[in-house]
Amino acid sequence: MTKQLIRIAVTGGAGSIAYQLLFRIGSGDLFGADQPIALHIVDLPSEQKKLEGVKMELDDCAFPLLKEIHIGSDPKILFKEIDFALLVGAKPRGPGMERADLLRDNGKIFIEQGEALNTVASKNVKVLVVGNPCNTNCLIAMACAPSIPRKNFMALTRLDENRAKTQLSLKAGVEVKTVRNVIIWGNHSSTQVPDFTHAMMGNKQAVEIINDRSWLEGAFIKSVQTRGAAIIGARGASSAASAAQAILDAIRSIINPTMVGEWHSMGICSDGNPYGIQENLIYSFPIKSKGDGSYSIIEGLEIDPFMREKMKISEKELIEEKESVEKFLEVTI
Ligand code: NAD
Repeated sequence: MTKQLIRIAVTGGAGSIAYQLLFRIGSGDLFGADQPIALHIVDLPSEQKKLEGVKMELDDCAFPLLKEIHIGSDPKILFKEIDFALLVGAKPRGPGMERADLLRDNGKIFIEQGEALNTVASKNVKVLVVGNPCNTNCLIAMACAPSIPRKNFMALTRLDENRAKTQLSLKAGVEVKTVRNVIIWGNHSSTQVPDFTHAMMGNKQAVEIINDRSWLEGAFIKSVQTRGAAIIGARGASSAASAAQAILDAIRSIINPTMVGEWHSMGICSDGNPYGIQENLIYSFPIKSKGDGSYSIIEGLEIDPFMREKMKISEKELIEEKESVEKFLEVTI
């Protein structure tokens, strides 16, 4: 029996991450080899010619699963009946631009997109915000889409988790596939908290194998927090292929069941969280999924005092971002 079509919107469709992402979704890499899909690709009016070129290339791949491709600039049209929204497009920080300017300019984008999701998307749409500052952009979209469950809004911190896993595996000299249960707490920014205290390598704790707390608290955390800037420094452009990989990993983590005793990190709404983080923020927590698109926060983890202090700093940054958006856009989120 043919499965029902899944509609996936990708914003920033003419950008670098989308160019790494769209073809993998089109090939069936995300939803599987028997799942027909439709892509709804959005970018600014000024980028429509480039977007047409992306569509031409998608056409030329002759992907058997890709049944429809829609392109355009109006989210109220392109978000119609979508099941997944991968909100990648955002305004980059330009020269001389303050963080507040970035929050304000992106805030406007995510108000518009949140409202469009609210009115035309499937009521069960799953929304993953990638465009930075992704946690606060996600909070804005969530606030503007009250008809969609708050749990359906997520911000990408999986790239940080993947980076952390690799750094630990390199230090320990073990295969990356054996590393699990690293946690990214907080904001996808330089205040993020890569928590190694629960990480496992095979059936051993990572801290037993890497018996070097000063490296773990110092160089390791710093390397994950600043990896994005290091990539820009080396490549002259921000992470694109690894970001696309992380988007696929993040969505797979909520549409497939999580292995017993494992978890992944995702920026999600902090309402009712068991770790004392202020409500109504998009904060990264460890989560597990039953595989039906729903998820829950892993409860009962003991929080190391060193991590707790850092988690509070990241929480404070998110509160400040929220207040800044409210002040500059004169909205309540
Ligand atoms: P890019 O500049 O190559 O592409 C961004 C695209 O978004 C452009 O084509 C632009 O026209 C489009 N865009 C801007 N405003 C839009 C709007 N209102 N609607 C639709 N499209 C719009 O950037 P990129 O490398 O693809 O990165 C995209 C975003 O992802 C950036 O904000 C970047 O900082 C962020 N990012 C996040 C992570 C993460 O882990 N969360 C990782 C890497 C990059």
